[in-house]
Amino acid sequence: ALTTGIVGLPNVGKSTLFNAITQAGAESANYPFCTIDPNVGIVEVPDERLQVLTTLVDPKKTIPTAFEFTDIAGIVEGASKGEGLGNKFLSHIRQVDAISHVVRCFADDNITHVSGSVNPIRDIQVINLELILADFETVDKRLARVSKLARTKDKDAVAELAVLEKLRVAFEDEKPARSVEFTEDEEKLVKGMHLLTSKPVLYAANVSEEDIMDPEQNEYVAKVKAFAAEENSEVIVVCAKIEEEEIAELEGDEKQEFLDDLGIAESGLDQLIRAAYQLLGLQTYFTAGVQEVRAWTFKKGIKAPQAAGIIHTDFERGFIRAEIVSYEDLVDAESMAVAKERGKVRLEGKEYVVADGDVIHFRFNV
Ligand code: GDP
Repeated sequence: ALTTGIVGLPNVGKSTLFNAITQAGAESANYPFCTIDPNVGIVEVPDERLQVLTTLVDPKKTIPTAFEFTDIAGIVEGASKGEGLGNKFLSHIRQVDAISHVVRCFADDNITHVSGSVNPIRDIQVINLELILADFETVDKRLARVSKLARTKDKDAVAELAVLEKLRVAFEDEKPARSVEFTEDEEKLVKGMHLLTSKPVLYAANVSEEDIMDPEQNEYVAKVKAFAAEENSEVIVVCAKIEEEEIAELEGDEKQEFLDDLGIAESGLDQLIRAAYQLLGLQTYFTAGVQEVRAWTFKKGIKAPQAAGIIHTDFERGFIRAEIVSYEDLVDAESMAVAKERGKVRLEGKEYVVADGDVIHFRFNV
C-alpha cells in the first residue's frame, strides 16, 4: 500500500501528531490489507460524499476508506554520512511514497529546540540537505559509469547523462530533484533512480494552541508558505497538541462543535490526511448497496478490472463489466432508479479508466 512518511527534526511535534493519528484510529478489522506495525498509523479519509450517499441509500452500515502514515524514526543530521541511526532514517524514507514534513512553528520556552531557536526554514533545510546529499551520492556513482558509456555514443547513456547533469547542477545548488524540470522521457529515467528528493512533499506547520485560531498571525507559517510555494508544495497548518489531546477523541457533531468553537472549518489533521491522500495520487470510488455504502481507495489512472480487484481478487479475475454513475449524477437523481431512467448509469468495460467519485457496481463471473 502507498504510504506517506512523517519526518521532522526532534521536538517539532512528530510523535504528538502521530499519536493523534493512531488515537483517531481506523477500525483495523475493516482494513485487513493495512500494515500492522507500531510505526504505521491507519487513518480514515474524511469524505462528506460518504454521508450524502448514506442518506440517499440508507444502508445497514457505512465504511470509509483508509490509508497509512508511517512514523519515520531515526536521527536526521549526519544521515547522509551513513552513520548508524541516520542511515536507518534514509532507508525508511526510501520506502515511503510521499513525505509529510513536520516543522515547528510554535514558540515554547519549555521545549528545547535542537538548534536553539525556532526557525522553520532552517529546519526544513537541515532535512532537505541530508536527502540531497544522499541523492548526490547516487547520482555521482551513476555519472561515473554513464559518462564512460556516453563517450562510446551509446544512445541510452547519452540521454541519461543529460539527466544526471541536470540533477547534479540542482544538487550543487542545494535544490531537490522535484524542483528540476524534465521532459516526459527524462522523467521516466529519473523515476528509475529512486531518488529521495523526487518524492512529493507537503509541510505540516505545527502551531501553538493560540495560533490555530488565526494562523495568519504566525510569522513562521508565512515563511513556510513562501518557501513551499517556490517548490510547488502544499502547507497544512495544524496544532498537533490539540489534535492529540482534544480532537482525536471526538467524532461527528461533537467534533464539529469543538471546531466551531475554535473558529476553524476542518481539523488540521483531517486537512493533512486529505492532502497526503492527494499527494500520493490516491482517489476514491464508492459502492452503494443497502447492505453497505463504502468508499474504496485506488491509484489514479487504473482501469475498471483493477479497481474491482481492490474489493476482491475474484472480482478482477471474473470481471465482466462495471455499472457506473458519477457521484454528482446520482445525487442529482436522488436514487439509482431515477439515475437509470435519465440514462446516467453507464456500462463500462475492461479499458475504462476509473474516475474519482464513481459509484460502481461490478458484474463478474465466479
Ligand atoms: P518529536 O520529537 O518531533 O516527536 O516531538 P514531540 O511530539 O515529542 O513533541 C515535543 C514537545 O513539543 C512535547 O513536549 C510536545 O508536547 C510539544 N508539542 C508538540 N506539539 C505542540 C504544539 O502544537 N504546541 C505546543 N505548545 N507544544 C507542542
